[in-house]
Amino acid sequence: MKTISADIGGSRVKLATVENGAVVESEIFPVAPDGFTGTLAELERRIASARGRHPSGWDGIGIALPGIIDEDRCRVLSCNAKHAGVENVDIAAWAQEKLSLPCRVINDARVALLGELNFGCAKGEQNAVMMILGTGVGTSAVCRGHLERGVHGTAGLLGGHFPIQFDGGRKCNCGGEGCLEAYVGTWALKEMAADPGYDYHRFAEDYEKGEEKAQRLFATIFTALGAGALALVHLYDAETVIWSGGASHFTPLLKAAEEYVWKHSWTPWGKVRFVVADNPEASVVLGLHALFAEGVVK
Ligand SMILES: [Zn+2]
Repeated sequence: MKTISADIGGSRVKLATVENGAVVESEIFPVAPDGFTGTLAELERRIASARGRHPSGWDGIGIALPGIIDEDRCRVLSCNAKHAGVENVDIAAWAQEKLSLPCRVINDARVALLGELNFGCAKGEQNAVMMILGTGVGTSAVCRGHLERGVHGTAGLLGGHFPIQFDGGRKCNCGGEGCLEAYVGTWALKEMAADPGYDYHRFAEDYEKGEEKAQRLFATIFTALGAGALALVHLYDAETVIWSGGASHFTPLLKAAEEYVWKHSWTPWGKVRFVVADNPEASVVLGLHALFAEGVVK
C-alpha cells in the first residue's frame, strides 16, 4: 500500500511518500503566504513530482491540519486564524479533481496519536491521552482502543483550552481566559518571560543554570502542565500520558508535572504511566498512512 501524507502545520508542510508503513521519501516546504489555496497549489505541484518518481499503485492522500475538522466531509470547520480560506475549500473534491485519489483530512493531534498507537511509543495502548507541547498545546485521547472523536469532532482535542485558572487567568488566543495553553504554549512562554526570543530550549538552559526568571517560570509551568495532564487523565480514564512536541525534551519539567499528577490523581486501579514520543514528526505521517491501512488502530 502506498499513500501520500501531508502534515500541514502553522508555518510549514511536511510531505511524505509512505509505503507499507515505511517513509520512502519526505520533504518540507513553507505554507503559502497567500492562504490555503496557495498551499494546495504547491502541494499539487510537489505531489505530481513525487508521483513521477514513483509512478504507480497509489491508494490515497492523508492531510493533517490543526483545528476542528469534519472528517466525514473532509472539511475544516475552524482553524483558529491559521491557513486563511481553508474553511471554504472542499479538500476531497480537490484531491479527486487534481490527483484522482481518495482523501482523508484529520486533526494533527488525533493523527499523531494514531501514529504512536500503530508505529511508535504507544503500541498496544488502549487507554491513553497525548499532549503535544508546541506553539500551542494539542491533545488527543484513545479510550478502550477507540480514538475519541465526539459528535462535533472535538472530543479529546481541546485539552489545551481547559481552564486551569479561573480567577484572573491569562488571556488565551482562543478567546478564553486561564486556559492551559495560555501558561504552557510557546507563545505564552514568550509573553510570561517578556522576551519574544524566549523558547523552551533557552528556558531549559536557564533553568539548569539556576537563573531566577527561569526558576519562577518553571514553578508556574510545571503546575499548569500537571493540572492539564491530570484533567485529561481523569476525564478520559487514561492509564498512559504521551508527551510530544518541542518542549518534551525538557525532562525536569515533565518529571515535575508527572509528580504533580501522581500526587493528585484519583486512580485506584494503579499509577499513571508517562512516555515520551521519540519521533513526533514521523508519527503524523505514519498516522496518516494508517488511515488507509487494514488491521490497524483507527
Ligand atoms: Zn484557550
